[in-house]
Amino acid sequence: MSFKSINPYTSEIIATYAADTPAAIEEKLALAHQQFKAFQQTSLELRQSLMLSLAKQLKEHAADHAAVITAEMGKTLAEAKAEVLKCATTAEYYAEHIVEMLKPRLIVSDASKSYASYEAKGVILAIMPWNFPYWQVFRFAIPNILAGNTAILKHASNVSGCALAIEKVFIEAGFPAGSFQTVLVNSKDIEPIIADPRIQGVTLTGSTPAGMSVASLAGKYIKKTVLELGGSDPFIVLKDADVAKAAKVAVQARMQNAGQSCIAAKRFIVEKSVVNAFTDAVIEHIQALHQGDPTDTVTNVGPMARLDLANELMKQLQQSIRQGAKLATGGQQQGCNVLPALLTGVQPGMTAFDEETFGPLAVIVTATDENNAIQLANQTEFGLGASLWSKDLEKAAKLATRIESGNVFINAMMRSDARLPFGGIKQSGYGRELSMEGAHEFLNIKTVYIQ
Ligand code: NDP
Repeated sequence: MSFKSINPYTSEIIATYAADTPAAIEEKLALAHQQFKAFQQTSLELRQSLMLSLAKQLKEHAADHAAVITAEMGKTLAEAKAEVLKCATTAEYYAEHIVEMLKPRLIVSDASKSYASYEAKGVILAIMPWNFPYWQVFRFAIPNILAGNTAILKHASNVSGCALAIEKVFIEAGFPAGSFQTVLVNSKDIEPIIADPRIQGVTLTGSTPAGMSVASLAGKYIKKTVLELGGSDPFIVLKDADVAKAAKVAVQARMQNAGQSCIAAKRFIVEKSVVNAFTDAVIEHIQALHQGDPTDTVTNVGPMARLDLANELMKQLQQSIRQGAKLATGGQQQGCNVLPALLTGVQPGMTAFDEETFGPLAVIVTATDENNAIQLANQTEFGLGASLWSKDLEKAAKLATRIESGNVFINAMMRSDARLPFGGIKQSGYGRELSMEGAHEFLNIKTVYIQ
């Protein structure tokens, strides 16, 4: 069994990696467990200083890491570098705030003193996707390792180079060997790792089917899970919005990372009286994008990460056209390269409305009024993020309470930020990453009662 990394722009095979043998996996699990025990004997200050050293390493070598990302999954070099730097600033953020996040919470009870303390649990398995191959990994690993857990990463099969480069950067930062390790293992061989008693939790970012499969296994072995799955985020533009700004941000929110983001704005839901002005502006912004070679500085939309993903997007696009949607611009495919596209006249019942579309495809849905806009926004099995545009902030905040999602951004695009909890509801998963909520997910919240 081996894993191939293929450059999606050139189709060239970059490298082939052999899967870890069961003996190698056993060695890594043992080392991770041993290091968890060692972390219990060392100070939080030490891990804070190692985390700052990790941030420094990432910053100093951002261009090298970006090159690995771009070669393996095709995002532009500028996007890849920004991703690496975001990991570095998140390491700095948590190094600064972890003490307050782990501070025991005093609780008044009938005890002379009672409190909840936050304690590391052990080795956590992370199953991660290729779309943000550094960010998804670091946003889990940073708070967990600071808190004293250790991490085993099973990365997506097309980004093994990223997985190994991340493992290396922890070592270069000075972390002891078992703190963070990569295992190269096929999805179908994951059960013995989840079942292993040294594994104390599993976090997965990826598709809903992957989440179902991993959560079932984790349930079988009583392991805590955090699931960050797909999304079909609405981007709601009300008639009192700054339409020009909304259109510009909508295109950015949909097309960044070649549209391959769980929190991309996947359905533009626009009130009828502004739909024409919004559509014209969106077409203009989409046509100004430059799709192509991700290493070229003029490119802002790279290829999609794999041919099967590009083919799937084209299938969804063509199906939606057959169902009555109109192609306003783009949509031509050459291998992994898909020209950023816009479909108008999209409605529930059409594939581009009902399914998650994971690529550079924007769709416009017309809403009769703001109530209809909210109803359309919620007409999805997903519930990850949402963006809502209106100049009436009070009204927007009220409407936000009616949106079924884990995050609502008003007059801004949905994005992840180390300071803010991130996660979904419905089929988008459960649990939270980032902020204090994310830092607590894999900790033992231990109640201490002193008579
Ligand atoms: P997957 O969900 O299949 O892959 C994500 C991660 O999960 C990878 O590490 C994958 O490993 C692993 N995985 C998949 N199935 C299992 C399983 N049964 N047991 C254990 N691990 C598993 O995503 P794809 O790459 O196939 O992309 C398909 C679609 O998923 C996309 O088009 C998009 O809709 C969605 N997706 C959503 C993401 C998000 O950010 N929420 C990220 C990526 C994809 P391996 O690669 O070895 O199969």
